[in-house]
Amino acid sequence: MSFLFPPTPTVSVPVLGQTSRFPVHRIYCVGRNYEEHAKEMGFTGREPPFFFLKPADSLVVVEAGQTGSMPYPSLTQNLHHEIELVVAIGKGGRNIRAADAAEHIYGYAVGLDMTRRDLQNEMKKQGRPWCIGKAFDHSAPIGPITPKAQAGDVNHAEISLQVNGADRQRSNVAKLIWSVAETIEHLSAAWELQPGDLIYTGTPEGVAAVVAGDTLVGQVAGLVSLQVQIR
Ligand code: MN
Repeated sequence: MSFLFPPTPTVSVPVLGQTSRFPVHRIYCVGRNYEEHAKEMGFTGREPPFFFLKPADSLVVVEAGQTGSMPYPSLTQNLHHEIELVVAIGKGGRNIRAADAAEHIYGYAVGLDMTRRDLQNEMKKQGRPWCIGKAFDHSAPIGPITPKAQAGDVNHAEISLQVNGADRQRSNVAKLIWSVAETIEHLSAAWELQPGDLIYTGTPEGVAAVVAGDTLVGQVAGLVSLQVQIR
């Protein structure tokens, strides 16, 4: 087969303790999945989970022990951090029941759902898609994937983000409105999950702006941490 121009290379994420890398298919994201974050965004009450996507090539893949570099994006005056637990799907499927979700999970990573909040808010106001606020280039920093057997009890892990050494976000994955297993059940009813899919599971409260020069350190207990500098 020949191509008119070189096809886009497969984006991949390093895996703790492995030489083989995790090839990325799609990036799904869950909106407003921690109660205190939903409140700070002006919403209350449990609503069914909702999803948006980012392109696979919007990842900023940070290798183990490295500090990633994210360019400050165009068009925004209000770039927000959202620290998130990321689920890496190893086995695909549709209509997966929450009780069976664990067997579809390869591992977990720490990710940032970076958001052009001013543009997202404008799109919300107009009832338009969020793509320009959420799915821009370099909008999805991610650290190495920890295989689930080495990850400990991720469902009850502390999740935190520091900016320039000061706490911005601190919560626990146990506070997810829709658990990882429930999220997989809902998501796989809407799309057929594939090996290589990543799920950004939502952010706790404390989202705020960053500027060029800031260093972000994201952690989920039991996983490889994520360090990114905005340039
Ligand atoms: Mn998010």
